Formats: sequence, structure tokens, C-alpha cells
Amino acid sequence: MTDRPVRPPRPQHVLEVTSSEWVTPHIVRLRATAADLSAFRESPYTDRYVKITFVKPELGLEPPYDLPALRETLAPEDLPVTRTYTIREVTDRDLAIDFVVHGDEGLAAPWAARAVPGDRLVVSSPGGGYAPDSSADWHLLAGDDSALPAIAAALEALAPDATGTAFIEVQGPDDELPLTAPGGVDVVWLHRGEAVPGTSSVLVDAVATWAPRDGRGHVFAHGEREAMKGLRDVVFGRWGLARDQVSLSGYWAYGRTEDRFQAEKREPIGQII
Ligand SMILES: Cc1cc2nc3c(=O)[nH]c(=O)nc-3n(C[C@H](O)[C@H](O)[C@H](O)COP(=O)(O)OP(=O)(O)OC[C@H]3O[C@@H](n4cnc5c(N)ncnc54)[C@H](O)[C@@H]3O)c2cc1C
Repeated sequence: MTDRPVRPPRPQHVLEVTSSEWVTPHIVRLRATAADLSAFRESPYTDRYVKITFVKPELGLEPPYDLPALRETLAPEDLPVTRTYTIREVTDRDLAIDFVVHGDEGLAAPWAARAVPGDRLVVSSPGGGYAPDSSADWHLLAGDDSALPAIAAALEALAPDATGTAFIEVQGPDDELPLTAPGGVDVVWLHRGEAVPGTSSVLVDAVATWAPRDGRGHVFAHGEREAMKGLRDVVFGRWGLARDQVSLSGYWAYGRTEDRFQAEKREPIGQII
């Protein structure tokens, strides 16, 4: 086995939660503040995301955390845990994150559901990889609730004359959010109904029957891993798009914590492209 290169940890930012609002029955929006969030605002990506670090409160650790040192000294069960979230909105001093609350399981979602003003939020500097290509002839945005913040931000960044479609899978009509999109971009809400999240085919079925118009397209597709494999087969296999026309990856995987989901990226089941 070869050693994987160790990336230096991204700088940490310590924020304070200022508000919590349920924007749909399954999404809680937390706003948080810090003295200088310009690194987030200046990110060129509409899918800019952070890694949120969670440590056990009983350890009494104060952020920013010295993660390499903690990895050396803490017992495995006490190690900090990270979860990845999109920055929905940001100014120099405030940012908003929309958390899908998917039941009692997990770490980030239950934390977000209970968060109150004054709680601390420790996040990495932003990552990201997509912004709509203004030279594209058409756009396709596709994802489930976990990608809704990134899709919403992309729709807001599209040129006024952009054309295309956004397919968004949610449980039902109450989970639809008002979105701002150019007139030439259709927003299509897909309801999985009583299907357990991560087991529905509505997103793949809808994209598979969609007809891309002529010209060069640009695709943003993110969500549950198996659905993304289905979309991969459509956009590359059926439509023959080139790699640089497509941003596609899993945001989570059915039945897996994020730790397991990330680890599986090194195994055949976790590889999408
Ligand atoms: C770049 C990127 C950006 C992301 N942006 C967002 C975002 O803005 N908002 C957001 O809500 N999520 C987002 N996600 C997905 C989020 O990181 C995962 O859903 C994560 O697993 C949630 O952590 P958790 O502690 O709540 O659950 P975990 O402890 O990771 O998982 C516990 C259980 O919950 C299930 N589960 C996890 N996520 C979901 C879900 N969305 N629906 C149903 N079941 C689920 C798992 O399969 C597992 O069985 C993003 C992921 C990536 C990679």
C-alpha cells in the first residue's frame, strides 16, 4: 500500500450562530458570524463548501483546534469528526448554511436542528469547484435536497439569458423553496413521496427523459451517490458530454456516515467517475 500524501489542514474559522430558521419541514438554515469572512465571499464558486469540525464537548477543547496534534494524542473514539456543507449565502461577516435534517441519525443534522444563537461553529476555509459557464448554450442542474443550496446559488449566478433546467428532488410540495432563476431556466421539483431518501429513482428518471438542446452544455449534478451513478451514465454514456462540461459527485451515500462515505471513495463502490 502506498502512503497517501498528507494535505496541510485548511485554516479554521470560529463562528457564532446568530439565528436558526426552519425554511422547509426538512431544512434548517443557520446563520453565523465572525469578524472576517471575506475568504468565503471572495470564493469564485457557487458550490463553495466548508468542512465543519465537531469535537466532543466533554473534552473541553477550545478552537481553533490543532488537528494534527489531536490526531496524535486523542483516543480514536475522541477524534474530531468533520461534515461537509455548502455555503448558501455569505457576506464579509455572516454566512448561512442550509442543513437537511434527515431524522435522528448522524451528527451534523441533529446538531443543526438543536442549534441556538451563541453556539459555536468551527469551519474550514472554503473549497469548491463549480460556477456556471457563461459561454454554455444550456445548463442542467440536478440534485436532491443536499444539493439544493448549491443549485439555488448557481441559479442566482446564471446570466439573465441563460437557458436550461434544474431538477430538484425533495420529499414533497412543502419541501420546495422559492428560488430565483432566469426566465429561460425551468425549475422542476421532483417528489420522492414516501420513498426513503437515497432510494428513489425520480431524479435519474427525469433527467434521462430530458432532451438537451443543441450546442454546448454545462452540467452540475450532486446528491446521493447511487443516483449520481445513474446520472453519470446519462450525461457521459448517453449524451457523450466531455469531462470538463460536467460537475458530478456524490454528496452522501445511503446507509453511510460521511466518514464511511469519504473512505469508500478509495474503493470501487465509491468511485463515480
Ligand atoms: C461538497 C458537499 C456539500 C454538501 N452540502 C450540503 C448542504 O449544503 N446541506 C446538506 O444538508 N448536506 C450537504 N452535504 C451532504 C452532507 O455532508 C451529508 O448529508 C452528511 O452525511 C450529513 O452528516 P450527518 O452527520 O447529518 O449524517 P451522517 O452521520 O454522515 O450519516 C448518518 C446517516 O444519515 C444518512 N444521511 C446523510 N445525509 C443524508 C441526507 N441528506 N438525507 C437522508 N439521509 C442522509 C446517512 O446515509 C447515514 O445513514 C454536502 C456534501 C458535500 C460533499
